[in-house]
Amino acid sequence: MTDPTEQPCSCCHPDAAGGQICRVCRNPGTLVPAITVESLVTPDRRIRLVSSDGFSACRTPNCQVTYFANERNEYIDKADLAVRIGVKETDDPAPLCYCFGWTKRMVDDEVARTGTSSAVCEITDRMRATGCACEVTNPSGRCCLPDVQAYVAHAAERAAMTNSLVPSTPDEHQTLRPRS
Ligand SMILES: [Zn+2]
Repeated sequence: MTDPTEQPCSCCHPDAAGGQICRVCRNPGTLVPAITVESLVTPDRRIRLVSSDGFSACRTPNCQVTYFANERNEYIDKADLAVRIGVKETDDPAPLCYCFGWTKRMVDDEVARTGTSSAVCEITDRMRATGCACEVTNPSGRCCLPDVQAYVAHAAERAAMTNSLVPSTPDEHQTLRPRS
């Protein structure tokens, strides 16, 4: 973990994906297109934007920052977005796919019933049929599929773990029982 008291020194150094380092959580962000920021911030916040260019998206689950541009000290909080940000939400509904409406709960429910999820196939099919609009619907400004794939794998792993859990048998009676 990073030391929160440490002074930021590499904020403006772009990471491999072209994003900057979030000054609040110190994790690297990913560059987002201007149209994503313009489409998803609340109207109130939009009129106060210095610029919509050059923002990076922070994807750290517990960080309140959504978009940031360190060089001009511009930060957009989670609360300034008109949509819920799936990676920063655990409560329902936590969106996974913004174009076709998949949530974490929908994947969880399907995995619980069937052991897997049709989300990736369904989204891929619909993308082929109608195209998607990730750039203006997904806060990351990118295709949701890698996130959906990761979440399905995570949900399946969690379900498998739950199923393999054997109820623990308390053996305190034995260990606490005075020796005869
Ligand atoms: Zn952050």
